[in-house]
Amino acid sequence: MITQSTIEDTIFNLFKEAVIKLPGDVRKALEEAYKNEDDKIACLNLKAILDNIEAAEELDVPMCQDTGLPIIFVKLGKVEVENLYEGIRNGVKRATKEIPLRPNVVNPLTRENTGTNTGNLIPQIDIELIDEEKIEFTVFPKGIGSENNNALKMALPGEGIEGIKKFVLDTVTAAGGKPCPPIIVGVGVGGLSDMAMKLAKKALLGKVGERNPDKMIAELEEDLLCQINKTGIGPMGLGGKTTALDVKILTADTHTAGLPIGICIQCWAGRHAKAVLRP
Ligand code: SF4
Repeated sequence: MITQSTIEDTIFNLFKEAVIKLPGDVRKALEEAYKNEDDKIACLNLKAILDNIEAAEELDVPMCQDTGLPIIFVKLGKVEVENLYEGIRNGVKRATKEIPLRPNVVNPLTRENTGTNTGNLIPQIDIELIDEEKIEFTVFPKGIGSENNNALKMALPGEGIEGIKKFVLDTVTAAGGKPCPPIIVGVGVGGLSDMAMKLAKKALLGKVGERNPDKMIAELEEDLLCQINKTGIGPMGLGGKTTALDVKILTADTHTAGLPIGICIQCWAGRHAKAVLRP
């Protein structure tokens, strides 16, 4: 049996790791970008980001003041768990108080802050059922500066791959410096509208630099990355070679008369952390 207190501890520890320590692949991509930039302002911005990442780890404090809205992806296998929901919520509350995280969660209409980063339907919990004897948690604190630039298009099948490319490039160009570039672009194609958006978000959990195993999708990811970096938006939107660190695409089958495209934009602070528990 996986107890409520183990779940709470796991969620707390994952938040601590996620907000303080950037995953190695994202950090490496930022370091590469710094080496490859020759624009002076872009170099200054990338150096400031890298110094900030180092300082957060040294001082044991979050790398950005916006510690995001809590999203938890759960892969639930054949295991017995005690009070999963309460365990997750308590873990978020404890992380908010002890790390601490900025309390970001408010009522959408009154704007009253709950003070705990929990609330109605928050943390956002996504449960996927699996057949293995384990439960896996991925904590994904999502900053709103990048999230505010997300987009959905219910394209028509005739728009095809060229239509997907155009929508991604138009969305990234319209976002400019607002999502704190260099960004990672998650793209979800297929399903219905909600699935396209969910795939776009899940795509951001893939490793930076790792290509989709489907050759056609991998080529599309590379082509889009190249075109986005040609826009010259650059780090923090002040010009330079590196607008995006990567483009990650996930697909699902869809209706014969539809082509939903979801785009989820992640800022340079591509924070997430994962843990697997077994009975
Ligand atoms: S977009 Fe990212 S880096 Fe910018 S303020 Fe929000 S969380 Fe921080």
